[in-house]
Amino acid sequence: MTPVAQRKMERRKTLKDYISRMQLKSTKQRDVIFDEFFNNYMGKHVTVEEFYENIKKNHPKIGFATVYRTLKLFRESGIAAERDFGDGKARYEPIRSENEHHHHMICTNCGNVYEFANSQIELCLNQIAKLNQFDVKDHKLQIHGLCSSCSGS
Ligand SMILES: [Zn+2]
Ligand SMILES: [Zn+2]
Repeated sequence: MTPVAQRKMERRKTLKDYISRMQLKSTKQRDVIFDEFFNNYMGKHVTVEEFYENIKKNHPKIGFATVYRTLKLFRESGIAAERDFGDGKARYEPIRSENEHHHHMICTNCGNVYEFANSQIELCLNQIAKLNQFDVKDHKLQIHGLCSSCSGS
């Protein structure tokens, strides 16, 4: 099995467990949205509107409210992360693996998002938290500025 297929299978299981724990019904539309999300948006940060505009081309019966609720459910079940890049729109990205963790650089001109991970940053944040006797549950780091094509450098 390819790593991508493996990941998708793991996330599907996480979602299934969550759905049965919450005693929700399985729905065909949710499966379609799951496939679309994990096939096309890995490493991307999609708004509900964008996701809906794309999926309705092939699945006109899926309504906006269903997309909205389903992406929210994905977040609650732990298979999607919700991001806020400061433009007032919630964005979703598929979680690659349970312990994967990264940060974002956002170009304020073209809107492109670049992901980065750095173990020294993590170490540094942990030390700062420790110094302040702060018990960290989560953290986010975002850098806003101009990407190389927009700054012309
Ligand atoms: Zn990301
Ligand atoms: Zn971090």
